[in-house]
Amino acid sequence: MDSDLLDCLVVGGGPAGMTAAIYLARYRRRALVVDANDSRAAWIPRSHNHAGFPDGINGVDLLARMSAQARHFGARVERADVERIDRDGDRFTAEVAGRAVAARTVLLATGVVNRRPAMDPAEHARAMARGHLRYCPVCDGYEVIDRSIGVLGADGHGVAEALFLRTYSEDVTLLPARYADVDARDRERLSRSNIRLIEPRVHQLRTGERCIEAELADGTTLRFDTLYAALGSDARTDLAVALGCALSDGGGIVADAHQATSAPGVWVAGDVAEGLDQISVAMGHAAVAATAIHNQLRAEDGLAR
Ligand SMILES: Cc1cc2nc3c(=O)[nH]c(=O)nc-3n(C[C@H](O)[C@H](O)[C@H](O)COP(=O)(O)OP(=O)(O)OC[C@H]3O[C@@H](n4cnc5c(N)ncnc54)[C@H](O)[C@@H]3O)c2cc1C
Repeated sequence: MDSDLLDCLVVGGGPAGMTAAIYLARYRRRALVVDANDSRAAWIPRSHNHAGFPDGINGVDLLARMSAQARHFGARVERADVERIDRDGDRFTAEVAGRAVAARTVLLATGVVNRRPAMDPAEHARAMARGHLRYCPVCDGYEVIDRSIGVLGADGHGVAEALFLRTYSEDVTLLPARYADVDARDRERLSRSNIRLIEPRVHQLRTGERCIEAELADGTTLRFDTLYAALGSDARTDLAVALGCALSDGGGIVADAHQATSAPGVWVAGDVAEGLDQISVAMGHAAVAATAIHNQLRAEDGLAR
C-alpha cells in the first residue's frame, strides 16, 4: 500500500475534527487533520456547560488539550487550508498548501461561521471577552440570569432567541434588523412574554466597562448587560458540495446515523452537520464517524470477517 496514503483526511481541527483524530489515531489509522485555525470554539472566553470542567474552560485551552491528545496518539495536525478535494476512483486527492494529499476517506468537520454585527474587530473582541456580546444562549444563557439582555436579530432568529432567553431574565429587548419583518403573530408572542420590541434600527454598537450600548437610528441609546447576536450563521460547505454531499434546507450537510454523507467515502461531524451546535454534539458526531470510518476500512481490508 502507498505509504503516503492516509486512512482519513480530517478537514477542520475544532472539537469535531480533533475528537475524530483522537479516535482514528487510537484505532491505529493514519489520520491527518488540516485546520485553517478559525474554530468557533476559539471564541469562547469560558465555557461552563462542557462536562468535566466544573469551573469552566477557555475555548483556546480546550482546543490545545484536544490537539495535544490527538498528537500524543499519533495523529498529524497541520495548519493550512484544504483548497479542494477530488475523487479519484476509491481515493481522494486534496490540495493542501500547494501539495497533493491522498486519502482513502474524508471527514468534513469544517464548522459554521456566525454572522457578526457591524463592529470594529477590536471592539468586537473586547465585547466578547467581557461577556457583553454573546452568540449562543444554549451555551451561556445561564451566565446572564436576571441581567438586562438585548437580542440583535435577523429573520426569525431574533424572535426565537428572545423568547428562549426569557427563561433567564424578565428584562429582554429585541432589536430586529428590520422591524417590518416581525409579523403580527410574532409581535403578539413577544408581547405575551413581556419582551420589548424596538422599532428604530441599531446604528452603532459600543462596549463599555460594564455594559454594551446600542445607539439607535433615532439617536436614542439603549444599554444592556449583554447583547446576543442572533444574525444566523453560514455552514462551510464548499468542499461538501463539490464532493456531491446533499445539504439540508437549513444549509447543513445531511448525514445518516453513522455520520456518513450521501457521497461515498465522505463523513461529516460537528456544526456543519445538521444538529444542535454544541461541543458535546460535535464530539459525539466525531466518535460515531471515526468508528464508522474504521469499520469501513477494516471491511475493505478484509479484517472485518
Ligand atoms: C461565542 C461562542 C460561545 C460558545 N460557547 C459554547 C459553550 O459554552 N459550549 C458549547 O458546547 N458550545 C459553545 N459554542 C459552540 C461551539 O464553539 C461549536 O459547537 C464547536 O466549536 C463546533 O465544533 P466544530 O469542530 O464543528 O467546528 P469549529 O470549532 O468551528 O471548527 C471548524 C474548523 O474547521 C476549519 N476549516 C473550515 N474549512 C476548512 C478548510 N477548507 N480547510 C481547513 N480547515 C477548515 C476552521 O478553520 C475551524 O478551525 C460557542 C460558540 C460561540 C461562537
